[in-house]
Amino acid sequence: MRFSGKTVLVTGASRGIGRAVAEAFGREGGHVIVGYLSGKEAAQEAVEAIQQEGNGSACAIQLDVRDAARAKEIAKHAKEAYGGVDILVNNAGVVRDNLVTFMTEQEWDEVVDTSLKGGFYCVKTFGRDMARKKWGRIINISSDAALCGDVMRANYASAKAGLLGLTRAVAREFAASGVTVNAVAPGVIETDLVSELSEEKREKQREHIPLARFGRPEEVAELVVFLASEGAGYITGQVFSVDGGLHM
Ligand code: NAP
Repeated sequence: MRFSGKTVLVTGASRGIGRAVAEAFGREGGHVIVGYLSGKEAAQEAVEAIQQEGNGSACAIQLDVRDAARAKEIAKHAKEAYGGVDILVNNAGVVRDNLVTFMTEQEWDEVVDTSLKGGFYCVKTFGRDMARKKWGRIINISSDAALCGDVMRANYASAKAGLLGLTRAVAREFAASGVTVNAVAPGVIETDLVSELSEEKREKQREHIPLARFGRPEEVAELVVFLASEGAGYITGQVFSVDGGLHM
């Protein structure tokens, strides 16, 4: 029960990696705020799964991470109800793939506004209470695309690389306040984001992975909960890949 008494906000937790992260915190006694955009029912299912497990507690809250005012509302509510958010996982992300010469401004903005600007809003809003309390954990979900680049993903690789800059800058700013800030860079993880790929493309991707398989959301969650734990108190400003050895 490493997280009893802690309030955890996971953005984009209605499915995929976010959901696995939310459930992992719930399993260890945390109170989890399951953030969602459009997946209200899926978010509610995640809440029920956490409650059924019986260790932690949970609630679902709609949070479009591009909406700074909504983030403030939730921070106010969390402060009144639970004394603030202790652990923030910036997980929400989207892809809008296109070759850079054809990429529209809208495709660029949707991706950058979700991963990078959304990450900034949440760090700014929820980090303040952590710094006041002299304890906090921020984990930003980046991507191997930030480290290696990715074809058709200039928007995504840029947003995720920006998130690494944000991680390091904020890790330095918050260091004196007992708040650590780290990033996790998944490789190819079996979620809705990759399930739509053709079998041919999946096979091609698998060929480049030393462990010869895609990852599972739970395998990313394991690292996220460790980085949020007391045991990771001397780790800040770092980026960790969970990718079967894809980037080494
Ligand atoms: P996913 O299955 O597509 O789920 C995306 C989640 O983000 C959903 O819960 C969605 O909410 C939420 N979301 C989208 N736009 C949002 C917004 N504006 N505000 C709040 N929530 C929003 O994705 P995933 O594969 O689990 O990926 C999770 C994170 O890991 C993303 O940041 C992604 O870039 C990163 N990542 C994934 C992989 C991979 O292989 N899967 C690899 C590297 C990095 P609703 O469903 O409620 O609309």
